Amino acid sequence: MLTLKQIITMLHQKGHKVTPQRLAICEILFSYKSHPTADEIYKRVSQKFPTISLSTIYQTLNLLMKLGLIQELGFPNISSRYDANTSPHIHIICPKCGNTQDYEDKKFEELWSKFITKLNFKPIGQRLEIYKYCDKCSKIG
Ligand code: ZN
Ligand code: MN
Repeated sequence: MLTLKQIITMLHQKGHKVTPQRLAICEILFSYKSHPTADEIYKRVSQKFPTISLSTIYQTLNLLMKLGLIQELGFPNISSRYDANTSPHIHIICPKCGNTQDYEDKKFEELWSKFITKLNFKPIGQRLEIYKYCDKCSKIG
């Protein structure tokens, strides 16, 4: 995973402005492992920048995705989450609220990478997901 400094350098190199707002969005994405939604990012950034709009958040997210710096985890019926870790790794996802946690298993990830490289085509994407109701949602029933 890249550091904030590397991200800033990359944005500059590709000719993109690093505004304080953009920086704040990047900071949230790259320092929290919580897979935030656009709304969550918006709420947090607007504490510091009250005039920021949700569309600025989406524009920045789209830019970071285009540059391959983050990945979008889209789900049917619930908001997408964003992940600054773009290497293949396992997610445990609550299908009710979308709560997304990393599940680390280096051996499996290695095995998976080998499997992917052995394919005789180049996949356009890959997701490793396990579904489980989170503690909060399993209490509600
Ligand atoms: Zn849940
Ligand atoms: Mn993740």
